[in-house]
Amino acid sequence: MTTTDDSRARIQWVSQNHQLIPYADATVSIMAPGLTFAALVFEGFRAYWNADKGELSIFRLEDHLKRFDYSISVIEMDQPPSADTITKDILDTLKANEFREDTYIRAQVYVDDWGSMLATGPVASSVICRPRARVASFETGQKFIVSSWRRNGENASPSRIKASGNYLNSRLAGLDAKRQGAGGAVLLNEDGTVSEGPGGCLFLLRDGEFITPDVTSGILESITRDTILKIAPPLGIPMVERKVGRTELYLAEEAFYCGTGQEIMPITAFDNRPVGNGVPGPLTRKLQSHYDDIVRGRSPEYGHWLTPVYGA
Ligand code: PMP
Repeated sequence: MTTTDDSRARIQWVSQNHQLIPYADATVSIMAPGLTFAALVFEGFRAYWNADKGELSIFRLEDHLKRFDYSISVIEMDQPPSADTITKDILDTLKANEFREDTYIRAQVYVDDWGSMLATGPVASSVICRPRARVASFETGQKFIVSSWRRNGENASPSRIKASGNYLNSRLAGLDAKRQGAGGAVLLNEDGTVSEGPGGCLFLLRDGEFITPDVTSGILESITRDTILKIAPPLGIPMVERKVGRTELYLAEEAFYCGTGQEIMPITAFDNRPVGNGVPGPLTRKLQSHYDDIVRGRSPEYGHWLTPVYGA
């Protein structure tokens, strides 16, 4: 895991093939199909520290594991670990490292050892956790550009699954943005409508309602996106899933990017055209604050989305 802070040095224990081992002892074969042919799927989770309760809670664990199972089944692997086994690996790893702060968890299932492009085993797995604070751009927002790369399509390398192979496309778009001095990229799909960013989904405010590309627009079925679609209407903020045209980016009154890592990150410009006044908008701020209450256990009606780690 590449980190920009000191979190790597604080990882003591990881789980590999359901055993806790020191991070430095984890190994993968250099001929593993997981590495050579991207026969690897993963999930990224966040666990939030609640100082009042002295508890660390994983957000929407079951939903991430459901998507994990789905991703695994699409790329085909022999006897992959069950959701219960991965849950145990995650809880064991968090507890072994004794993290009492916001933490990011990455679970991977991959084909290890040596094999062809079609190898479906031997299947290996890993879980790694690291401290990860909220990103600074949660407050400041980021400028995005529309990348000239197209999103990998449903019939080529489906975006709906969280497979490492899809992230080559994300990497190209992300590097495109970086070269242009932007903080993020928008990918259009093969049909030319808006899909998502390299590692998150998009929402745009138009005429009092947020629109977001639908699940056939070439997106990962994001759990944060689903969370926002569920929590916004009770606040009186309408949400619409539909095809989104590129010019709608330039007409947006507010916009944000979302994902487990970024949570809800305001977008302040698309292609150097300011979104609204060029600063994070009030409805985006309202959603951020509500999201924060939910992930930190301050909204009892959404308590079922939190899995306690130490009290488990
Ligand atoms: N799209 C892509 C391509 C992603 O990598 C991610 C991050 N997992 C997302 C969307 C957001 O998904 P989630 O909210 O489930 O983290």
